[in-house]
Amino acid sequence: MNLFMPNWLKQRAELTPDRLAIKTDKEMLSFQQLHTRVKQRAHLLSLSGVESGHHTAILMKNSIEMVETIYAVMSIGAVAVMLNTRLSDHELEWQVLDVEAVHIISNQEYLGKINGLKDKKNIIVSEQIHQVNDEVQSFINVDGEYTPDQVATIMYTSGTTGNPKGVMQTFGNHWSSAIGSALNLGLQSNDRWLLAVPLFHISGLSILMRSVIYGMGIILLERFDANKMNDAIFQDKVTIVSVVTTMLQQMLEKLDKQQYPDSFRCMLAGGGPVPKSLLEECQTRKIPVYQTYGMTETSSQVVTLTPEHSMKKLGSAGKPLFSCQIKIVKDGKECLANEEGEILVKGPNITKGYWKRTKATEEAIQDGWLHTGDQGYKDDDGFLFVLDRRSDLIISGGENVYPAEIEATLLSHPKIRDAGIVGVEDEKWGQTPYAFVVLHEELSKIELVEYCKERLAAYKVPKDFKVIEELPRNASNKLLRRELKDWLNKG
Ligand code: ATP
Ligand code: MG
Repeated sequence: MNLFMPNWLKQRAELTPDRLAIKTDKEMLSFQQLHTRVKQRAHLLSLSGVESGHHTAILMKNSIEMVETIYAVMSIGAVAVMLNTRLSDHELEWQVLDVEAVHIISNQEYLGKINGLKDKKNIIVSEQIHQVNDEVQSFINVDGEYTPDQVATIMYTSGTTGNPKGVMQTFGNHWSSAIGSALNLGLQSNDRWLLAVPLFHISGLSILMRSVIYGMGIILLERFDANKMNDAIFQDKVTIVSVVTTMLQQMLEKLDKQQYPDSFRCMLAGGGPVPKSLLEECQTRKIPVYQTYGMTETSSQVVTLTPEHSMKKLGSAGKPLFSCQIKIVKDGKECLANEEGEILVKGPNITKGYWKRTKATEEAIQDGWLHTGDQGYKDDDGFLFVLDRRSDLIISGGENVYPAEIEATLLSHPKIRDAGIVGVEDEKWGQTPYAFVVLHEELSKIELVEYCKERLAAYKVPKDFKVIEELPRNASNKLLRRELKDWLNKG
């Protein structure tokens, strides 16, 4: 089978030149206009030394310039390394060195963060690329083909369970991910996807890949703003939005009593489970929520729940995309329905491995199955329920205890602002759950325990808790339970 493909943006500009590619609050570009800009940028980047195969880190905020940069790097045949702008200086330096980046393309405002790298790497300031735009008369040839096994992007995992790992995402991975999503959500000629999640995450980048592959317009926001999101749905005729739970909550608050237009057809909610109360509210307001499970290694969604099942299968992440498979495994054996084990996933959207981490790759991917490190089960109808990270599982008196479940209960208490659960050693039970909480107002141990007892089995009720100012979170805002464990061990 010949799987070579033309440069996606060039092909898109040829097929549907006048269709909207991207709109921000400042500008609107058709695919043709975007392609012209990308050719210019690719030319200028090549003059700055970017060559085919070079690892080229991108440290930018959501903007048309960032989109141009991503496509330009791909067009040159270089590998775009997507850096999280919220990382600390130290974390950024570690990733740039680990990935052996030759260049860093950065917005002016982040230069301070990479100061320590200025003698080691070729730093290209995005704002300065623009200034010479008009001088360019002829372009380098950037119309090469894309091959499915070629690495398009490297994206580090969030580093929730350990050190971040550089996930190599190929053109084939992005292609399969976009096609799998379309086969599930369907595709309409009026589709417009609202992009307010970071482009440096797979949640954001995958929208860009769908845009060019489908010929679908994007409404791009620099950052999340609930009012702007709602405005875009009403005024820019957005049909699909990608959100995480907190974004959805804020959008609903701002929406007040209004309802989204009928043309709005999909609220794709990923990154973690959506609470029941929020799903019920969405149902009342006729908001079609598609819950989804995915990770950096799967180049976006791998399992998605359609709205017709969202109440009947409350809390489920759904069923695999057309080209994907899932299975639940415990002690090397596939689990029966409703039996808990590790979630394994397979499909053409799954990474070919971690950059420079042969051993980690071999451990994670066996016979094409990615061991996700997440614990879950499939119900009688084959719907997936994600429970928690395997590494955070607490086993108390032989029972599996999932921190996420206890945290969700604590968070529903009006005095609790944030909560994190870890296991502590216990002579009788092996392990018992211990809570770290951030409070709105004072809370006694009796109050906390009573509240939990009413809602949770006795073995899930935290044996003790500690009030802290703030929970440790990473640059993706995910709770770092391993740091809480360190705090406990240090007393
Ligand atoms: P690291 O792999 O470095 O520990 P990470 O796993 O947090 O970091 P990501 O790839 O950004 O990095 O996140 C993917 C993870 O997010 C999944 O493995 C899963 O734990 C969690 N997740 C994603 N979607 C859902 C969901 N619908 N329900 C529960 N958890 C989810
Ligand atoms: Mg992970």
